[in-house]
Amino acid sequence: MEIDRAVAEGLDAQDPLAPFRTRFAIDDRLVYLDGNSLGRLPLATVARVGGLVSGEWGRRLIRGWDEGWLALPRAVGDRIGASVLGAAAGQVVVADSTTVCFYKLAAAALCLRPGRTEIVTDVDNFPTDRFVLEGLAAARGLTIVWVPSRRHGGVSEGDIEELIGPQTALVTLSHTTYRSGFIADMAAINTLAHDVGALTLWDLSHSAGSVPVELDAWGADLAVGCTYKYLCGGPGAPAYMYARAELQPALRQPIWGWLGRQDPFAMEQGYVPGPGIDALVSGTPPVLGLACVEEGVRVVQDAGIDAIRAKGTALTSFLVLLLDERLAALGVGLGSPRDPLRRGSQVALTHPRAQELCAALVERGVIPDFRAPDVIRVGLSPLTTRFVDVWDGAEALRDLLLYS
Ligand SMILES: *Cc1c(COP(=O)(O)O)cnc(C)c1O
Repeated sequence: MEIDRAVAEGLDAQDPLAPFRTRFAIDDRLVYLDGNSLGRLPLATVARVGGLVSGEWGRRLIRGWDEGWLALPRAVGDRIGASVLGAAAGQVVVADSTTVCFYKLAAAALCLRPGRTEIVTDVDNFPTDRFVLEGLAAARGLTIVWVPSRRHGGVSEGDIEELIGPQTALVTLSHTTYRSGFIADMAAINTLAHDVGALTLWDLSHSAGSVPVELDAWGADLAVGCTYKYLCGGPGAPAYMYARAELQPALRQPIWGWLGRQDPFAMEQGYVPGPGIDALVSGTPPVLGLACVEEGVRVVQDAGIDAIRAKGTALTSFLVLLLDERLAALGVGLGSPRDPLRRGSQVALTHPRAQELCAALVERGVIPDFRAPDVIRVGLSPLTTRFVDVWDGAEALRDLLLYS
């Protein structure tokens, strides 16, 4: 039986998460396949930001800090921890950009392992992570040990085992990689790193809100991630940091700001780190962004990560089926793991003319992402993507390959 659009319509009709689409601002004429780069706008965010700006900022003014604003970094952090990170309360805080959060935690980890000379990461890790590590290594005279590229896959336990030893201070990877969507075995890699006395730092930007993560149970030391992808926090929304409770007393992040100090409003001489996770904060919390993150995470929490994961796997599997049946013969390849349990909520389609094809798709109102050199990255955000969107996107690509 040939697959047609009715198959996709049937899958949508049975989708338990279908009603969640109505909680977002959505223009049905656009086939949006990039929710893993910038998640859609929740309608609750529109109301929240309006009230925050005119009511809280406009009328309460400075009193807002004591009426809830100062508590937001921890409150939103705990909500993220409980709903999508598998982290007990008091271990997650929302603060700066992902890049700055990553810098703070990577530097703090290196301070906990003085005398060790190596940082292990992979050449296909997200650019900002690689660059921050290069800067830290240059400043401290450390060496980065690069796991070689497996562009369409990711880093295995075997790769790590080969490269670590008593010289390793830190192992840091993306849990779900940005290009192929490969999911690393976090628990196994944590165990390997701990066996040689190294710490781990995970970037969860492409995992949080799309695949289950159990930081506490899997023994992670540190983690960061952004909130504007599957968590729908909006452009430039602040990122979160996780630090395992046992590590917190000794952990020293490098940006000693007043709001990370113990008893900040005493305006005392000398920096003394604040209690627990508070010490990871540096400056004034980005209140507008924090409110947006809270609303985005609330929608994700209402749906539940298990239901989100089930739909994510179904969406990516449907696209891989369309690839095999309708696109492979036209020269399109799979740049993601074939095993759905090993890939996140995205599929990398490979084609030598990927860049030009992406531009042509955008012109037709189909929005994927181009990732150099040859990947059309299709992000299938489970709360807002329908199976017919997958069908329409794949057919638009097929059309271009057949007739342009
Ligand atoms: C999106 C993303 C970031 C973003 O960093 P910003 O500082 O928010 O620009 C970082 N790491 C990974 C793995 C990402 O996917």
